[in-house]
Amino acid sequence: MKTSIVGFPRVGKFRELKFASEKYFKGEISAEELEGVAKELRSCHWKVQKDSGLDFISSNDFSFYDNMLDTAVLLNVIPKRYKDLNLSYIDTYFAMARGYQGNNGDVKALAMKKWFNTNYHYMVPEIDDSTIISLKGNKIFDEYKEAKASGIETKPVIIGAFTFLKLARFVGEKGVEDYTDQIISAYQEILKNFAQLGAKWVQFDEPYLVHDITSEDISLFNQIYQNILVAKGDVKVLLQTYFGDIRDCYGEVVSIDFDGIGLDFVEGKKSLELVGENGFPEDKILFAGVVNGKNIWRNQYTKTVNTIKDLQKNCKNIVIGTSCSLLHVPYTLKSETKLSDIYKKHFAFAEEKLSELNELKEILSSSYPENTKWYLDSKKLFEEDRNCTNITVRERTNAIKEEDFIRLPEFAVRESIQKETFGLPLYPTTTIGSFPQTADVKANRTALRKGNITKEQYDEFNKNKIAECVALQEEIGLDVLVHGEFERNDMVEYFGECLNGYLFTEKAWVQSYGTRCVKPPIIWGDVSREKPMTVEWSVYAQSLTKKPMKGMLTGPVTILNWSFPREDISLKESAYQIALAIRDEVLDLEKNGIRIIQIDEAALREKLPLRKSDWESDYLDWAIPAFRLVHSGVKPQTQIHTHMCYSEFTDIIPAIDNMDADVITFEASRSDLQILDSLKENNFKTQVGPGVYDIHSPRVPSVEEIKSALDKMIEKIPAEKLWVNPDCGLKTRGNEETKPSLEHMVESAKLLRKENE
Ligand code: GLN
Ligand code: ZN
Repeated sequence: MKTSIVGFPRVGKFRELKFASEKYFKGEISAEELEGVAKELRSCHWKVQKDSGLDFISSNDFSFYDNMLDTAVLLNVIPKRYKDLNLSYIDTYFAMARGYQGNNGDVKALAMKKWFNTNYHYMVPEIDDSTIISLKGNKIFDEYKEAKASGIETKPVIIGAFTFLKLARFVGEKGVEDYTDQIISAYQEILKNFAQLGAKWVQFDEPYLVHDITSEDISLFNQIYQNILVAKGDVKVLLQTYFGDIRDCYGEVVSIDFDGIGLDFVEGKKSLELVGENGFPEDKILFAGVVNGKNIWRNQYTKTVNTIKDLQKNCKNIVIGTSCSLLHVPYTLKSETKLSDIYKKHFAFAEEKLSELNELKEILSSSYPENTKWYLDSKKLFEEDRNCTNITVRERTNAIKEEDFIRLPEFAVRESIQKETFGLPLYPTTTIGSFPQTADVKANRTALRKGNITKEQYDEFNKNKIAECVALQEEIGLDVLVHGEFERNDMVEYFGECLNGYLFTEKAWVQSYGTRCVKPPIIWGDVSREKPMTVEWSVYAQSLTKKPMKGMLTGPVTILNWSFPREDISLKESAYQIALAIRDEVLDLEKNGIRIIQIDEAALREKLPLRKSDWESDYLDWAIPAFRLVHSGVKPQTQIHTHMCYSEFTDIIPAIDNMDADVITFEASRSDLQILDSLKENNFKTQVGPGVYDIHSPRVPSVEEIKSALDKMIEKIPAEKLWVNPDCGLKTRGNEETKPSLEHMVESAKLLRKENE
């Protein structure tokens, strides 16, 4: 029995890659120095994997920003506007990732989207009619050679041709069919190069297969691989899938000339059944993803052993591995010095998952797996009572009634009451919540954590920041203000720390996009609110201005989706527990004079099942009610906002309307406003603020640029429903670009108002 992982985290135990990249962006270190850090990280990660006893170690899972972007660059899918900047290789790469504004030109970044049902984001490759797909880059080969030079044989990993084409954006006349031959040749060449380099295995990631796919998709997949694999020579090819099962194409996939097939037995509800019912070819190896690559709970060996035994009835050659890349879990539990062992023994981060694989290997290699120490230890651990039930919380969720999900009066009535109450101008301007988390803000937090300042000093600093922020917004002329969220490290972790039932970590970072990492808290037990979490800050901020101050909360679905969830109760149950806690906060804000409350559901779309057939029954039927539960108790005058970002919403527009908020703001500028049509088609009732500029890039948008986005918006959205705001919160931005950007935004809204006079 051998072991494998789909990929390993790359930012480093202490986010070294993040810090080095950010220094590079600021011009504080050279490209060589950045590469030096990267090289050290790769070598360290390979060594950790090797020392753990892992049999298949990945390379090219490293990336300076994103693997999809790496693949695009490797395949020469670099839009002309980036090539025209005439920058170095690495700077062209970063220009695609982050946009560029400087001596060589001014271009926006590529679109960014959530990677399947995770909180990781990928850069969307853009193919126009002048694109020629061909193998141009060499990163994948260099990394293989680099590992080999240090004595480590790796399996290079790359996004497969099918998934690449399916996720790419075709902006010209041409489509997938026009690029099939080109991409086939490029991948053939990749295989030939690896054959020459003496590589034993290459892994093609094809997660797209876990969607509901059509028969055309299956033919495309077939065509691509029948052709690519002709070139494999002595290289063995592993077709890796994850985030679900491949029920639509299992038969086809296993009949193609792959040497290994990676299936997900954690999220793939039907994977076991597929193998059981259809068998598995004797000449191939099944890479069985049995260790959860997305959650941090320890593997339940008793269950895993059963799964493997089941599989062995149909499958001679099994390699055990992770369900997906370990990119989605933190690096190591060893960095958690404050979390007691009582908790820690229930968790496994990336490094510990490597040990789990090794333990499973020992268990499964024994003639009496059930008698091995690891097996017995695991059994005992899972039999233990974790002491995490709260009777009051259980009683409260059990008592939820149908009417608790319904806000009265209905939307249209509230809308006119609120127009009167607030008297806002047409096209009201606002921001999404956070203002730049500058070095001093972070230093203040660090100082409190290290005990260098008192809680009073900490609060005092934040209050000054709030006052500055309010003054700035008044100066800029925004209509609805925010306090700036300086007291929050992160929109979910902050609430996690305030709520009972949560555990939080020190160094458990997970990459979200590029250099941005998040530290998801862990839901350990039943969740409840002990005391108000945000009221003091919002009330203080409101006291500084006559304009409405938005109270800022994170919604239950996002809190849940961005936490590591429990595996012993349902997501629905957890969502309702959190919803009731946030509901109490909403009512407290209202009681204390806050008249607009924004409940962010940034991640609502994120955990939507990948298969449409599961949307309603597996998700929306509790996610939308959970949100409604939070705000159904407020007065008609109180305006409820929500905010969503970075995903394709077009397909769930009715569900979003059904959240019954009064206003929704969302990311739109990166996806070229495609969503507007869909709002119009669906007769969207909620007022909307589609983001007018991209906050993920330091570029300052011009007045003309924002105005032209607004012009497009008013073609589709009724004037009295349109809000003007950036894409998302400004916390990752600097002060330098924030002020002019917002000034340009306010200026554009004024221009638009003038036109309507
Ligand atoms: N209110 C949050 C902020 O502005 C929203 C962040 C998000 O949607 N990711 O930071
Ligand atoms: Zn956002």
